[in-house]
Amino acid sequence: MKFAGMLILGLTFEMGIVSIYMVTDGIIKEWLNTKTTPENIERLRQIYLLSYFIVAYVLIFFIKMTMGIRFVLDNAQLVLLETFIMAVRDRKLYFSIGVTVGFITLLPYFFKANIDGRIAVTFLVIIPLMLVSCYFTIRKNSLVRWLTFLIVGIVYWALRKLVWLGSQKIMLVLLLSYLVQASIVFWLFYLHEKNQQIIAKNEHDALFDEMTSTKNYRAFVRGLDQVVQVHAEAEDKTPLALIMADIDHFKLINDTYGHLIGNEVLKAVSGKLVESADELGITADVYRIGGEEFAILLREKNKGQAQAFIEKCRASLAQASASQEHEIYVTISVGYALLKPRETAIDFFQRIDTLLYQAKRNGRNMVVGGD
Ligand code: GH3
Ligand code: MG
Ligand code: MG
Repeated sequence: MKFAGMLILGLTFEMGIVSIYMVTDGIIKEWLNTKTTPENIERLRQIYLLSYFIVAYVLIFFIKMTMGIRFVLDNAQLVLLETFIMAVRDRKLYFSIGVTVGFITLLPYFFKANIDGRIAVTFLVIIPLMLVSCYFTIRKNSLVRWLTFLIVGIVYWALRKLVWLGSQKIMLVLLLSYLVQASIVFWLFYLHEKNQQIIAKNEHDALFDEMTSTKNYRAFVRGLDQVVQVHAEAEDKTPLALIMADIDHFKLINDTYGHLIGNEVLKAVSGKLVESADELGITADVYRIGGEEFAILLREKNKGQAQAFIEKCRASLAQASASQEHEIYVTISVGYALLKPRETAIDFFQRIDTLLYQAKRNGRNMVVGGD
């Protein structure tokens, strides 16, 4: 009865807390997806993880100290703590978390004389052990991390046996209960993490062009819609430029040097556009929207600045060879303009497309701006 009871009670607490985290984490991520960048989402999710587990940990600790089921919840406390430390991906945070959680854990032992101080000693040893072991296994495979998870519990219950004269049998029962709980929670959490990674990778693959690593047409349609909408709703409107560039006579490059060299040229051109945007410190997103067509969304730059930026890109592409193997100097034709008040995304796109065709018709290797 003892074993089953302890196991069920402990597991109920842990599974409840971990499941609620997994569900809310998924909902938050979904919600943030349309609101901010992937990097920001990752940062916010880590902040949520920290806050959630600290609150859950304090809660379980409070229940443990006030409801007299201290013994049973020792394992829940250990498992939660370990799960939470393992889930933190940023190693720099480890030691500040350790100090905070260690402080919370040990605080009551200093103030309440009727608590057995020897248990505090076991936590004093186990918290640094958790931190150090998680620190060194953070990039290791799941099996190593699982074993680390189990070893922490074994060390904990061995220490409890050393400093506290409980019966051998009950210690073994508690250890066994820890091993079962830790394994279930670990694998549950691991599957959640894996699942989130797969989702993130799929999302990345859906929005990025594999060959050039720039954003793709789907990302462009989304990005354009989003910035046009933000622009329409903004009280204080800052300029928004759309630039479309098409490589001149690209078919000829393919026909002369082959498709592989053609691909190399595409990578060089997109690399140059991204590099130029980064260099200027402009909030610019570069997209590959067709075979040899690129779009750039440029925020907070006026027409003159947008023109200077793309002219510089055009000139530098024409000056340096886009291939290591052959001397290939690429020219581009460009259309660009600023978004007009109340203009829709589709009209804006169409207008720039027309300007680009004008550049082609006028002899290529040139930039044509609209009003
Ligand atoms: P223009 O100056 O009028 O733009 O002429 P162009 O030859 O650049 O334009 P056209 O649209 O006739 O040809 C585009 C070529 O781009 C045709 C297609 O085979 C090639 N292309 C499209 N995607 C890729 C790709 O991923 N790799 C390579 N190597 N070629 C591609
Ligand atoms: Mg072309
Ligand atoms: Mg084209």
